[in-house]
Amino acid sequence: MELKLNLRNNSYDYLINSIDTYEKAINYGDHHLTTYYEKLKLKTSFILLLQSYELMLKAILYDKHKNLIYTNIDLQRLDNAHTVSFINAINRINNFTEYTIEEKDKTVLIKCSKLRNDFIHYQVNIHFEQLRQELLNLFVLYNKIHCYFYGHYIKISHWKDIKLEKQINNKFKNILNDTNFTIFRGRDFLKENLQEFKKELESNQNYHHYISVNNKKYKRIKMGSENDFFRELDKVEYISDIYEREYCHDCLAKNGKYHMFEYHCDLEVCPVCGGQILTCGCIKSKAE
Ligand SMILES: [Zn+2]
Ligand SMILES: [Zn+2]
Repeated sequence: MELKLNLRNNSYDYLINSIDTYEKAINYGDHHLTTYYEKLKLKTSFILLLQSYELMLKAILYDKHKNLIYTNIDLQRLDNAHTVSFINAINRINNFTEYTIEEKDKTVLIKCSKLRNDFIHYQVNIHFEQLRQELLNLFVLYNKIHCYFYGHYIKISHWKDIKLEKQINNKFKNILNDTNFTIFRGRDFLKENLQEFKKELESNQNYHHYISVNNKKYKRIKMGSENDFFRELDKVEYISDIYEREYCHDCLAKNGKYHMFEYHCDLEVCPVCGGQILTCGCIKSKAE
């Protein structure tokens, strides 16, 4: 069996691999449990996607005229090994097709290209959140140019498998929906909701006590100090490394800060009984 992919199908092949890798990195449905090992896959997904985007530009140029993918348009055969650079391909799309890659999109692409060069030839220094954002921007740009030249649907002719083809199209749409989200402390938030959540996180820190149902005042237990509290109470069986994390896996409170009572955090410990405050029933309200 022969492995033969034209430019467009080669671009799709990288795209598909990028999508699959992205899904593994994000681990849909269980974001707070995404491990470093999984998150690291964002880097590979990014490289694959930029490769795919570059090949898509070449496919478009090639469809316009086959010489447009060579550095020197007049010397196709002699110059065979030196295909057009990424930035030249962008400029040629603008100069030789009816489509225009806008200035702001061009800026994003050049930034992505620099990032890729660092990833492949140098070293890596970027926050996962930012990397994911760059990756999502790139997915959006891929979709944009693809829609213009080849439509919304990605038809993978070399597969000859409609079911699989539909699956990939659905996955791609899901990823495009992700652009409405932003990550905060490893969790997805709708962009419009994050500000509100941050405010509540902040104001929650002003309440240092709880009032019990018997009207007694108790100091709240901060994220990260639970294990000491359990030792004090001699409830060593409750000691767990989930309280040693940087952020609470349920309410996202930072280590050293109070859990989010309003968000019904299932990790917050009751200062009265040492049980789960969500279910023990000892507490009536928060207090300053
Ligand atoms: Zn919490
Ligand atoms: Zn209690």
